Amino acid sequence: MDDTRHHPLDQEHLDGNALAGALEQFVSDLTSAECTCAGCGSSAPLAAALLYAKAPGMVLRCPTCTGVLLCLTDQGGRQVLTVDGVRHLVIGKP
Ligand SMILES: [Zn+2]
Repeated sequence: MDDTRHHPLDQEHLDGNALAGALEQFVSDLTSAECTCAGCGSSAPLAAALLYAKAPGMVLRCPTCTGVLLCLTDQGGRQVLTVDGVRHLVIGKP
């Protein structure tokens, strides 16, 4: 059996570790990131969103349509971040 797997992009990819440095920018200043809501398409700094901290976990809602942007929950000591309601997060100056 041939154990060699060929993928059309095999010559071009790295593993996910190579993304660590670029993602650090988001972690250091995430609240100033401009967030685009997947529901209504409006954009605002993440800091302007509506935080509901008394829900099971923390729920961040869009300031325009109140749709859920993201949820941060503790699941048995593991922090789980769900971002289904975010289309884009943009950092840096326009
Ligand atoms: Zn929205």
